[in-house]
Amino acid sequence: MVKAKLIELDKCTECRSCVTACQNQNKNEPNTDGKKADEIRKAYLECNGADELSHEDWTIISQKDPKDPTRYYKKQCMHCDDPQCVKNCPAHAITKYDNGAVVIDPEKCEGVKLCIEACPFDIPKFDEHKHTVVKCRLCFERITQNPALDPACVTACPSKAMKFGERDELVSYAKNKYKYIYGGGVGWNSSVVYASNVPIEEVGITRAQIHGIPELLRTITHPVGVVMLAGGAGLAALNAMKSRKEKVAKAESK
Ligand code: SF4
Ligand code: SF4
Ligand code: SF4
Repeated sequence: MVKAKLIELDKCTECRSCVTACQNQNKNEPNTDGKKADEIRKAYLECNGADELSHEDWTIISQKDPKDPTRYYKKQCMHCDDPQCVKNCPAHAITKYDNGAVVIDPEKCEGVKLCIEACPFDIPKFDEHKHTVVKCRLCFERITQNPALDPACVTACPSKAMKFGERDELVSYAKNKYKYIYGGGVGWNSSVVYASNVPIEEVGITRAQIHGIPELLRTITHPVGVVMLAGGAGLAALNAMKSRKEKVAKAESK
């Protein structure tokens, strides 16, 4: 059964309990090695109030306009049905599961970072210390244990702004209650669904940007593919994607 996380944006109070719960669940504490007390304190504060995803922040409250309280949303991996990250991982380190979760295996990740380039939502981040790419796992271990638990962020939300369950049911519920939906088959096929009475663009959510991933990458197989990427055709393809991404970002900022 395909599951999903529904995020009811109108109920979110920006408290960031979900952010802290995610960090605790995934033990993403800031790296304090060799840091002084005031630096550690600053790192913790930044961690909880981060405005962009990082290897320590797998979910954030993204604010389009800090002065406008209706313009923020909880950002994390969308758990796409047809994930570009999975298609473009030459090490086959990312799996799309039947329950909807898209999960990176840190043991298999070679740090090639093609998933970072390919993701249409700019989600995966590289962890320099562990030399692996990381992102939200939809709390895979929690949702598959017996008895199953909801993802940690869902459980922690004091406003009950998130629901986890059967995708079709959640999308039907959202359609009856909200004017605007993104995800779960509406605008994008995914296991994360946003619902709001404010237009999605006004909240700040950026719709998927497909980066024109070269077919060439699909032919790359591990371990030869990793070697190919170090030079020649693979690298040219990677550069082409980067250039395309920069152009899209430039056009968006105008
Ligand atoms: S949002 Fe990006 S990282 Fe997440 S499943 Fe989709 S392509 Fe992969
Ligand atoms: S589902 Fe789990 S890993 Fe993903 S944002 Fe929520 S707590 Fe973090
Ligand atoms: S815990 Fe709930 S209310 Fe608080 S920021 Fe996260 S989604 Fe919003």
